[in-house]
Amino acid sequence: MNIVLMGLPGAGKGTQADKIVEKYAIPHISTGDMFRAAIKDGTELGLKAKSFMDQGALVPDEVTIGIVRERLSKPDCEKGFLLDGFPRTVPQAEALDALLLDLGKSIEHVLNIQVVQDELIKRLTGRRICKECGTAYHLVFNPPAIAGVCDKDGGELYQRADDNPETVINRLEVNMKQTQPLLDFYENKGVLTNIDGQQEISKVFAGLDALLQGNRI
Ligand SMILES: [Zn+2]
Repeated sequence: MNIVLMGLPGAGKGTQADKIVEKYAIPHISTGDMFRAAIKDGTELGLKAKSFMDQGALVPDEVTIGIVRERLSKPDCEKGFLLDGFPRTVPQAEALDALLLDLGKSIEHVLNIQVVQDELIKRLTGRRICKECGTAYHLVFNPPAIAGVCDKDGGELYQRADDNPETVINRLEVNMKQTQPLLDFYENKGVLTNIDGQQEISKVFAGLDALLQGNRI
């Protein structure tokens, strides 16, 4: 059960990742968590990564891949793992294949949660946050009882600068350009499955679950 989970921001990747790791009892490995753990443990690669991050520089692939290798070698990955946020590029995907081959493993499923751009924009621009307590609402999916006001403490709701339409569209387009070659790479290897992310959360999960149990969807 070695999985790479993909999907644009707003596609619901985090929600589905939580459900998959809960059901299959495999670790959810996100790039951020992996870096934080390596830095906290003070591993050689963790310290290297930290020195780049402290300078505000991108961590080079060889360091990132070394950290991925250390993480995937741990005993909790024996039954499988869910990678989230890595790989981001084709060279990283090739390096991942090579290191998995060394470990006697391979990627079995690349699951791509697909949602059309208009829907992603609606999801990503509808978020509103309480100024007082930080509770998140959504104009469409989780609206407060009174527009613009927090249910818990009456605090004013605001939209984060990151959630305005221009920023959101830009973020989506940059992301799409980056991920397309990676999707093509996995498609060519025959491990990619696209899942319709516009269904209800439970239906999206039912589809993923069926696929992971070896059924075609
Ligand atoms: Zn509040």
